[in-house]
Amino acid sequence: MAIVGLLLFIALVVLGQAVGGPPGRATPPPLPAGQLELRVFDVGQGDAILLRFGERALLVDAGPDPQTARQVLLPRLARLGVERLDAVALTHADADHIGGAADVLNALPVSAVWTAAKDQAHPLLSVIEAAADRAGAVIERPVDGQILNWHPAISLRAMFASPEVADGDNNQSMVLHLRYGEADILLTGDIERAAERDLVARTTGLEADVLKVAHHGAGTSSSREFLAAVQPQVAIVSAGLGNAFNHPRDDVLRRLRGMGAQVFRTDLAGDVVVRTDGQRITVALERV
Ligand SMILES: [Zn+2]
Repeated sequence: MAIVGLLLFIALVVLGQAVGGPPGRATPPPLPAGQLELRVFDVGQGDAILLRFGERALLVDAGPDPQTARQVLLPRLARLGVERLDAVALTHADADHIGGAADVLNALPVSAVWTAAKDQAHPLLSVIEAAADRAGAVIERPVDGQILNWHPAISLRAMFASPEVADGDNNQSMVLHLRYGEADILLTGDIERAAERDLVARTTGLEADVLKVAHHGAGTSSSREFLAAVQPQVAIVSAGLGNAFNHPRDDVLRRLRGMGAQVFRTDLAGDVVVRTDGQRITVALERV
């Protein structure tokens, strides 16, 4: 059930090119004290999500490839003034989520890398872990239900589907639930129906005002029972424009809207930026 009393404001702000200025240099408004920001970057077909609170910054996935990391993600972080990351959370070992991680680790100081324990043997992760070692980042492997230390004002919990149902990379995704004041955010990686069913059966507190829609809006995710447990007011799809997978699927969009969620898509809108003071939520769209 959605948080009673939470006020939702949608502010559709398109930050275009500054008049007379170079392209891509429009400066976003600064992050006010006491505000948690969730920023789902438009990195094409993949995920890269930044969480900021005060001076703290946490990156969840790092986009699909080194080129996107260098040309899109790292410039976006620089533009926001993010010069270091407390942690890089890698939800699962598919390239569209971790392909840019080594470049991020090579470019910025990072205190910790959070990866799923089952992914240890993945070749891409080996490269990333080597980069993390060189950068001095601690590699941590959260387990289901673990509360992660990020900021004392924010509850951050990792969740995983049971090992017996978590077949394949997608269903092994690290799911992250954040709570700040009365506002809840759920980041789902690429979990599919089997993991969704397992989480609904075993877990309480899946409710979230803001949902990063699982697996780029694929039809094999966002089951009705999962969405009923989450009850999102804001649903964000990270997908590449005209991608070969037809993400997001129309039936998923219909299910989300049928639940009363406002849907935002990086492929159509650019970066989707959610801010909350724990009571109110605003959504802004930034086309850089
Ligand atoms: Zn993916």
